[in-house]
Amino acid sequence: MSGKRSWLVVLFALPLTLGQSCSESLESPDTSEPPVVVPPVVVPPVTPPPPPPPPPVWQPKIFEPVEVTNKSSKRVLTADEIGYVWLIYCSGILSPPTIDQHGPDPTALRVDTNGPIASYHNIFCRFPIDGQSGEVRTALLNLFCLEDSSEGSDDGTSIGISRILEDWDPKRNFGEPWTLFCEPEWSFSETIDNYWVETSLVGQWYSFDITEPYQKWSSNEWDNYGLMFEARGWFGDFASFASAQYPDESKRPWVLTYHQPALQLKMPLPAGKAWVLTVEAGGESCLGFDKHHTGRNFYSLDFSYSSAKYDSDGKVRTSSEAVVPILAAADGVVSEVGKTSANGNYVVINHEPEGYSTHYLHMQDDLLVVNAGDYVNQGDCLGIMGNTGDFSEGVHLHFGVKWNNDGTKDVSQLTNEVTLEGRPLQDFKVNCEGNNYYTSTNQ
Ligand SMILES: [Zn+2]
Repeated sequence: MSGKRSWLVVLFALPLTLGQSCSESLESPDTSEPPVVVPPVVVPPVTPPPPPPPPPVWQPKIFEPVEVTNKSSKRVLTADEIGYVWLIYCSGILSPPTIDQHGPDPTALRVDTNGPIASYHNIFCRFPIDGQSGEVRTALLNLFCLEDSSEGSDDGTSIGISRILEDWDPKRNFGEPWTLFCEPEWSFSETIDNYWVETSLVGQWYSFDITEPYQKWSSNEWDNYGLMFEARGWFGDFASFASAQYPDESKRPWVLTYHQPALQLKMPLPAGKAWVLTVEAGGESCLGFDKHHTGRNFYSLDFSYSSAKYDSDGKVRTSSEAVVPILAAADGVVSEVGKTSANGNYVVINHEPEGYSTHYLHMQDDLLVVNAGDYVNQGDCLGIMGNTGDFSEGVHLHFGVKWNNDGTKDVSQLTNEVTLEGRPLQDFKVNCEGNNYYTSTNQ
């Protein structure tokens, strides 16, 4: 299918183009006969879908899409990933400390401009950035400030951040390639930013913004040879921070990254209606825990029509006569169209970035309008909400989101990087009082 269209348009157009329809009023194609050319006649829908107005007690509580601000990940750096090097600048005397096997105090990372015999301490860090499939919006290196000298200046230490341009090994003994430090030009590094560490920050966290190098490492624009932090300016200025071997683990260096959503889904149901959530991610429902929503179905949501009502036993009754089109939650390629005894008629769509998929279960018989291999746009019709499959106990949509065919709660990509109508999946909660509705912007 190509082009985004409303489900109503799909209802009219599909019988002419695909021989199948999202409307239950239309007959299934007879595959034993050659296709018949049908003149373009506009057929009004026989079963109009207007929902009955909800009773007053069910006044929709509308959740507006909000920007997700808490999608972040934290990486505590190891002693191999951050340390300091004591170097004697161009003296020809190369002392042997290696990174983080240094000095009298391995618990501190130090930058200074004037140690003995024109020596310097610089912080070096280099850490892998794998496993971050979402676009990084902000990356911060957080260091806990232990000490800061105002000697030689008024109120702090100027610290420059450089990206390192050449490969290096934190375990290598001082020597090669550290002779590079003695070159007239510091050709092994390139300054990318400067900071001023205030004396008043002693005993507090200091966040160095490393967004630019992080993004360029992620995009392979820069080779990830790490960063160097050095004191600049007045002789005598220094600052020290808790190292990766600092006794209090909570004060060790760490990198915080904020991500853009990798996959932004819309509700798989039409706009302009209110939808009730009967089972939330993790399996909670008004009937108790739903055993079909564990494991690989952990990030699955069950939606029903807004005319759903709860009986005295808490069971959801839905309006089975309504035609509810199921819409693609995002652009992608249909990877599976099938039917199983448990899932009924189902469709799976693979999305970009690779590895993400959405799953649509229990749709009505003979009304699936996509085939495996089809490219679908967000909002394209897939089929009609139904009650097929042994795991369905009423007309509803089981909507699953998976990554690498997994959907367990350990998959951080799902929690951090997939949003539904701008909100994390786990924000969608059942409300057994019956007054929680969710609205869609999909069409
Ligand atoms: Zn379900």
